Amino acid sequence: MIPTTPRTAIVTGAARGIGAATALRLAADGHAIGVLDLDESACADTVAAIVAAGGRAVGVGADVANSEGVIAAVARVTEAIGAPTILVNNAGITRDNLLHKMSEADWDLVMTVHLRGSFLMTRACQAHMVEAKFGRIINLSSTSAQGNRGQANYSTAKAGLQGFSKTLAVELGRFGITANAIAPGFIQTEMVRQTAERMGMPFDEFLAAAAAKNPSGRVGQPADIAALAAFLARDEAGFINGQVIYVAGGPRD
Ligand code: NAP
Repeated sequence: MIPTTPRTAIVTGAARGIGAATALRLAADGHAIGVLDLDESACADTVAAIVAAGGRAVGVGADVANSEGVIAAVARVTEAIGAPTILVNNAGITRDNLLHKMSEADWDLVMTVHLRGSFLMTRACQAHMVEAKFGRIINLSSTSAQGNRGQANYSTAKAGLQGFSKTLAVELGRFGITANAIAPGFIQTEMVRQTAERMGMPFDEFLAAAAAKNPSGRVGQPADIAALAAFLARDEAGFINGQVIYVAGGPRD
């Protein structure tokens, strides 16, 4: 593969799932990784896996929705492994319910983590990107942005991240910064295991049902998303800006 310039990346929600896979994949491209999640100790496995593969990483505990925590976390990464010029806004939660049963707290929490979290993280990192005249912002959207029963809060937040990405692309493009959204379909992680649990369905049946209706005949894996995130972070992806790329095994699922 053509080499890409080694840089510092922050991946939020990188203790597990898509975030952990993305952190590992970016590290394999030579980037030093700020592994950020709510609880610093939860980052240990991802950091250890990166270091064991010969990479550099630091684990940082922060709530992406907390302004002071975000500023401190970005400063800590900068001091430990360099100023971040790649940011993957991946931290996320679901609080699913039909609209008439959805509480205001669950609406607010989902908006706060996805939208406020991505805003705060991006605002905290963009000065480093502008200074470097290089930046890559990758926001995790979802196929749910197109509408999904029981996810009025989540689908709204994920559609919002698409608008956020496009606006960042317009504002920051002149500084060598790109902003894109990845919209995954069904990816096998703890998040969907919790969904299966809520629906009272055994996880293997839930996975089999999702695979059966997918045009590719399988569910997605975290590495499917990590591969695109790593590509979008590369030097050679510099003219891909403001796009929403669906990674779902088919056009809709
Ligand atoms: P996951 O396994 O639940 O991992 C999410 C991680 O984010 C967890 O480690 C979680 O920490 C962390 N997190 C949650 N709130 C946070 C906060 N306020 N600050 C910092 N970290 C926080 O989820 P995933 O399936 O890998 O999903 C990753 C992203 O992809 C999410 O944005 C999700 O919406 C999106 N996505 C997933 C799918 C899918 O099918 N899995 C599909 C489309 C899009 P805790 O464990 O402490 O809560």
